[in-house]
Amino acid sequence: MPEKEAERMLVSRIEEGTVIDHIPDWRADTASRILRLDKLARMQADVSVVKLQNVTSKQLGRKDIIKIDRWHVDENDADILSLVFPNITVNYIDDGKVSKYTPKVPDTIEGRIRCPELLCISNAEREPVVPKFITLKKDRLLQCQYCDALLGFDSVPEHVRT
Ligand SMILES: [Zn+2]
Repeated sequence: MPEKEAERMLVSRIEEGTVIDHIPDWRADTASRILRLDKLARMQADVSVVKLQNVTSKQLGRKDIIKIDRWHVDENDADILSLVFPNITVNYIDDGKVSKYTPKVPDTIEGRIRCPELLCISNAEREPVVPKFITLKKDRLLQCQYCDALLGFDSVPEHVRT
């Protein structure tokens, strides 16, 4: 986009797209990896992404914000992001109208996260099965449905499949 327009996007609302707010400070890159924003590059999608880092926040002291112009983040990806960053808020914008999406911790997660146990059948090199986890919400853990291996919500960034 033209530079003037980019400046406008930095400070003002976008008309169509997604704003992920209340990401902990300096974690926007981790968030964009979990949200698979790199796939937008592979798709050569006509979108613009702004990452605001270390912005002053009443609630958190400091925070990061990701604005994605002309792209709606997948709700399932937002749910997975909220495992790691429970305070995030997700705003979808259509025609300038904002609707909030409240991410929820899913009961099960399929396909997005690798099992930490290397010998797990879901990590097999030949004919691997789709990784499946159930969430143990109180303990903030994921449990592999094949081998029972446990993975803390906070370790999701290192095991996310992009
Ligand atoms: Zn496993």
